[in-house]
Amino acid sequence: MMAGQHHWGMVIDLDRCTGCEACVVACWAENNIRLNPDSAFHTRRAILWIRIERYWEGEYPNLKARFFPVLCQHCNNAPCEPVCPVFAIHHSSEGLNVQIYNRCVGTRYCANNCPYHIRFFNWWNPEWPESMTNQLNPDVIVRTRGLIEKCTFCIQRINSVERQARFEKRDIRDGEIQPACAQTCPTDALVFGDLNDPNSRVSRLAADPRHYRFMEELGTDPNVIYLKRVELNA
Ligand code: SF4
Repeated sequence: MMAGQHHWGMVIDLDRCTGCEACVVACWAENNIRLNPDSAFHTRRAILWIRIERYWEGEYPNLKARFFPVLCQHCNNAPCEPVCPVFAIHHSSEGLNVQIYNRCVGTRYCANNCPYHIRFFNWWNPEWPESMTNQLNPDVIVRTRGLIEKCTFCIQRINSVERQARFEKRDIRDGEIQPACAQTCPTDALVFGDLNDPNSRVSRLAADPRHYRFMEELGTDPNVIYLKRVELNA
């Protein structure tokens, strides 16, 4: 489904990801995500819009750590969208899965229906120490208790670039929009762009023979595309 002028998507190259988690920190800082104390992780109530899943391949002593970044897949057939009783989720004409905080009443049906576990319920009002209040991003609202939140592909950055391009009466340049995670990744493992543009970097990478979509057998049709890690045995 490619209805709008743009169709935003991301390619994640697993061959490049080193598991450094710079993307996780960048996302946290950009999007005013609450501080997660140990207790939040122990009770499985921590909020991370992007997480790095670690798993092991091989048998000891030839074990190898593998890393797999997971964020909202912005599915074209998103299972979270039809189950919201108050229409707090909608699919934008540009391929984004959008959460409307003002509508959300916190039933959490969407989180239960997301196979990727990337939706988070705010169990508490977020708090930051006084020394950190100046680092909050004024372009992103702080979510209060009782709301579901998740990755937006840094929609505030998309809107800002779209506004500027409209103002200057020009097209958006490939690579001009960078979500915080993609901007920060030191190995360039995350590439964001317009899947409607066949010449964009993201479209070219999406055509790589290594491409696949996470749990694509579910038919969710994500706009996040992974590139397999390939290892040649010596
Ligand atoms: S910043 Fe890049 S290399 Fe580091 S964990 Fe994230 S995706 Fe992987």
